[in-house]
Amino acid sequence: MNNVIVQKYGGTSVGDEEKIKHIAKNICKKFDEGYKPIIVVSAMGSTTDELIKMSKKVTFSDKNPDLRERDILLSTGELVSSTLLAISIKSLGKNVISLSGSQAGILTNDIHGSARISDIKINRLKDEIAKNNIIIIAGFQGINPNGDITTLGRGGSDTTAVAIAAAIKADLCEIYTDVEGIYTTDPKVVYNARKLDKINYEDMLEMSVLGAKMHPRSIELASQYKVPIYVCGTFSSKSGTLITGENNMENNKKITGIAIDKNVAKISIKKIKDQPGIIARILEPLSAKSISIDVIVQNTPDKGYIDFSFSLSEDDLEYAHEILINEKKLKYDSIVKANGLSKISLVGSGMQNESGYASTMFKVLGDQHVSIDMITTSEIRITCLINQIDTTKAANALHSVFELDK
Ligand code: ASP
Ligand code: MG
Repeated sequence: MNNVIVQKYGGTSVGDEEKIKHIAKNICKKFDEGYKPIIVVSAMGSTTDELIKMSKKVTFSDKNPDLRERDILLSTGELVSSTLLAISIKSLGKNVISLSGSQAGILTNDIHGSARISDIKINRLKDEIAKNNIIIIAGFQGINPNGDITTLGRGGSDTTAVAIAAAIKADLCEIYTDVEGIYTTDPKVVYNARKLDKINYEDMLEMSVLGAKMHPRSIELASQYKVPIYVCGTFSSKSGTLITGENNMENNKKITGIAIDKNVAKISIKKIKDQPGIIARILEPLSAKSISIDVIVQNTPDKGYIDFSFSLSEDDLEYAHEILINEKKLKYDSIVKANGLSKISLVGSGMQNESGYASTMFKVLGDQHVSIDMITTSEIRITCLINQIDTTKAANALHSVFELDK
């Protein structure tokens, strides 16, 4: 749609009343320039974390909070920020309307806590645009076929923004955040991390799955519907990063970045009797509880027994361990859990069909005396699990050997 622009503001960008007023002015400026802004907001600051904590405090005997009720609770965080922003804009004399996810027509499936958007009914949005209203949408939420509020999973406002941009055929989806764009790696770990002018969807998807700042599902959607995304700093005038489908950018660099995830744990199950379907039987109870596992290593059977290890988020370690121990049907020698690991990944769609990157990576890590715990690769990514304490050393060495600072 002509001149429609979607802008999303993250939690720190709407962190307090002054920040909201600052954003309100920027949005009015865009409007005065002839744009039709549709704004998506996250909850203010750490509101969502606090709501989650509160929901845990009111349950008895370690029971998990009811997910239907919790979704309504969490959705209020975004209602606060969206209405405050609308009130601020209105006071500047502009036509504006705030809409909850369901009022904005965002329909989802009924998986509370990690709902997927099934459709967006854009009639209301079109009406409000026709009335010349600036639209403020509460991110991270929708409504399921039963008419209940759902949330899209942590960080889900990015996905709201891209989905709205796709549905309304906006020219661009701008993501305003507390960093100035997408970097070659985490600037907190590698001081000369470089901001990228552009990155393609494929690389960005890997980077976001592996810890960069955006909700991976938003990148999937953007790539599917060809929505260009521009990530930039809310309180900075510097240029940001454009995420698009174009290839061969950045002087044809083969490696785009290094993704770092410091929150990694591992479970190893020793001496399991090898039989068809055994791995599925180990993993099913975990996936039933929505615990996602990542790097998997299974050795070749030795005298009818295998060892099997996988990595997972540190946050899930205790719960996953408990589930496996209570699986009485599994026969094995021992289960060992370990945390304090990091996942470090070389990402670049330019690596496809080119060899040598993996061996260079292993050599660099070896030269730094960093031992590798597990390895996994895809066409455009090489991932190593290493000790957390080696993260800074490893990331800096890789960043400089692959000349990502240039
Ligand atoms: N407020 C939600 C969260 O903290 C959604 C978001 O920020 O994107 O996860
Ligand atoms: Mg976010």
